[in-house]
Amino acid sequence: MSKKEFVVFGLGRFGRSVAVTLAESGCEVLVVDDTQEKIQEMADIVTYAVKADVTDSETMESLGISNFDGAVVAIGQNLEASVMVTILAKELGIPYVLAKAQNELHAKILKKVGADAVVFPEKETGVRIAHNLVMGNFFNAVELSSTFSLMEIDALEEWDGHNLMELNIRAKYKINVIGVKKGNTLDINPSAEKVISKNDTLVVIGENEVLNRFKSKME
Ligand code: ADP
Repeated sequence: MSKKEFVVFGLGRFGRSVAVTLAESGCEVLVVDDTQEKIQEMADIVTYAVKADVTDSETMESLGISNFDGAVVAIGQNLEASVMVTILAKELGIPYVLAKAQNELHAKILKKVGADAVVFPEKETGVRIAHNLVMGNFFNAVELSSTFSLMEIDALEEWDGHNLMELNIRAKYKINVIGVKKGNTLDINPSAEKVISKNDTLVVIGENEVLNRFKSKME
């Protein structure tokens, strides 16, 4: 399988972080920025680093990026440049263009001009970090959406020796048990007859709010 090819426009903190991670993951990465120092800084890390103004359509065409797998528009401050490069990237035929937005209006514009995905890196990271701070002490959480998480929780003492049907965790706590860990063995999709012991870890899915209440119950 040939390596995936991505272009990253803009080498601010977000663009650099995306470009470095793509390169470390074995992808071919082209970065474009109009600041010489930023280009120099990335030259040894990515496949190609080009100093250019992304709003210049001729320059964009000369990059030969039509067959790339995806583009990341990592220009936040310069609204005009962000919108123009999104349009140009779509016009050149790049199938997946992900763009960073500064605010809701910026996001709307990016979607209207053809961005396939719009992200708010700082806002999204802030929300995730806050959730992890709230839930983090003893949960291993994977956020599935802003309202639901998949988590590991320790079995309660009072559950010891009872099976899942008797415990009726779904009705009682409104969480779904999708796995039971006993030591290193994980039983995915446990049956209703599965007997829980107090040293088990349960893998559950539920609403963050409910899981939070569940957490305080356990404290
Ligand atoms: P961050 O918030 O992730 O640091 P910025 O919006 O501050 O992102 O950074 C955007 C980057 O895009 C800067 O490195 C800037 O030099 C570059 N940039 C802005 N406008 C253009 C343009 N027209 N052509 C090429 N690069 C640009």
